[in-house]
Amino acid sequence: MLQDFYKETVLDHYQRPRNRGGLEGADLESHLSNPLCGDEVTVYANLQNGKVAEVKFEGRGCSISQASASIMTEQLLSKSQEEAEAEVERFKAMIVGKEDFPETEDLAALKGVIKYPSRIKCATLAWTAFQKGLEEQQKA
Ligand code: ZN
Repeated sequence: MLQDFYKETVLDHYQRPRNRGGLEGADLESHLSNPLCGDEVTVYANLQNGKVAEVKFEGRGCSISQASASIMTEQLLSKSQEEAEAEVERFKAMIVGKEDFPETEDLAALKGVIKYPSRIKCATLAWTAFQKGLEEQQKA
């Protein structure tokens, strides 16, 4: 369904997910599911000196949801909390076509999703889970 060029990167992240696994006692742990598609994602992160020191995910579901989670961990690692929050907002704007995708990053591989509104929730699942986890962590 996605353009071939992008599909390759999505498949690569789906088949060889980066930073997959749990983090015991992580500062941030957040689970979300997408019943429309059957996707499940749990995002874990440790914050150190205001930075995302570690970020991992566990999950199952369609290639877009899992590849997007994998790409997200690479995008958010080592970012400051503020940068990570901004990155999530930017991604959510990109996926609905409100902001341009950067051409050079793996993130651009998800660009094709814009044409398939029913898949947007798949693509944003992990990102929303991270955002939710961060909010909960800040309240604690
Ligand atoms: Zn899905």
